[in-house]
Amino acid sequence: MSLLVIPIFIPHEGCPHSCVFCNQHRISGVEGRPVTGPQVAQSIRIWLERGRKNTLSRVQVAFYGGSFTGLPVARQQDLLSSVQPFIESGEVQTIRLSTRPDYIDLGIVDFLQKQQVATVELGVQSLDDAVLEQSLRGHRAADVIRASALLGTAGMELGIQLMVGLPGQTFSSLRKTVARVITLAPAFIRIYPVLVVAGSGLEGRYRRGAYQPLSLSRAVLQAAWMKKKMTAHGIRVVRMGLQPGPELERSLVAGPYHPAFGELVNARLMLRQARKLLSRVPPGRQIRLQISDRDQSVFRGVGSANIHRLTSLGLSDRFTLHSDPDQPRGIVQLVPEDKNP
Ligand code: SF4
Repeated sequence: MSLLVIPIFIPHEGCPHSCVFCNQHRISGVEGRPVTGPQVAQSIRIWLERGRKNTLSRVQVAFYGGSFTGLPVARQQDLLSSVQPFIESGEVQTIRLSTRPDYIDLGIVDFLQKQQVATVELGVQSLDDAVLEQSLRGHRAADVIRASALLGTAGMELGIQLMVGLPGQTFSSLRKTVARVITLAPAFIRIYPVLVVAGSGLEGRYRRGAYQPLSLSRAVLQAAWMKKKMTAHGIRVVRMGLQPGPELERSLVAGPYHPAFGELVNARLMLRQARKLLSRVPPGRQIRLQISDRDQSVFRGVGSANIHRLTSLGLSDRFTLHSDPDQPRGIVQLVPEDKNP
């Protein structure tokens, strides 16, 4: 079933905080005057018109950026009510928004439900209080637990945003965060590597030598580990890495940025699976590996990095690669010998 997500950006509105990694305008690439209700309605009309050509089955309006439920109630009402006519006409099915964990309480959940909001994404980043404090998040892990429970009880879909490379975040801290997130059972997560962007609090720390970002390869490794864990618990990883764009690239000071960060992570996961299977194959023998049709470039890796790596390990002549349109994505499978031609 195809899903059209209509994005509406509300950068930094409603947020009095200054998380150390955040310069919301630069990161989302949207600056200028706040979007109005009529503009939201106009955007929806334009997207629906374009989408009709692709015979859509489901449409979701997603308010990205900022902390939606921190906006004045009248402003929230204005934005959400501009979507209601499209829900009533059946052209839009659901609304999604993102907010901070400490901006969720029973009254807010009730209000969101009445406005047909089905999905709430919480900017969690970490569940380690020491890391949250160093990142100047202004909330604690307990706020996340409480907000997740309220949303879950209301039957709303929960999304969680996490970061790798936060100040003070060790791998052990990340591991504990992942274990706690799994117990919250969100429907999906997003993983963002911390970047040093101009105008953020982290820029000063970085320039003073008080913060060292992750290298790209370390960020990829950590995100790959997280994806593996989450997927094993049925939690979808819907995005890895910030949306690339000229504004973000211009403001990037340092950090593990790559325009295809998610692809690097997926390629790393495929390489790991292929290596594991091939390590059991004695030299001189060859096995058949099977991947999804749509994973051909992921298997090769960005710039054929996976193929080069398998060659350097002496493993590239130990398999033939086959693709199957019915195989789920992200999996490298060994084809049993009796299925060999
Ligand atoms: S809460 Fe969100 S919008 Fe506000 S400063 Fe932190 S990251 Fe930026």
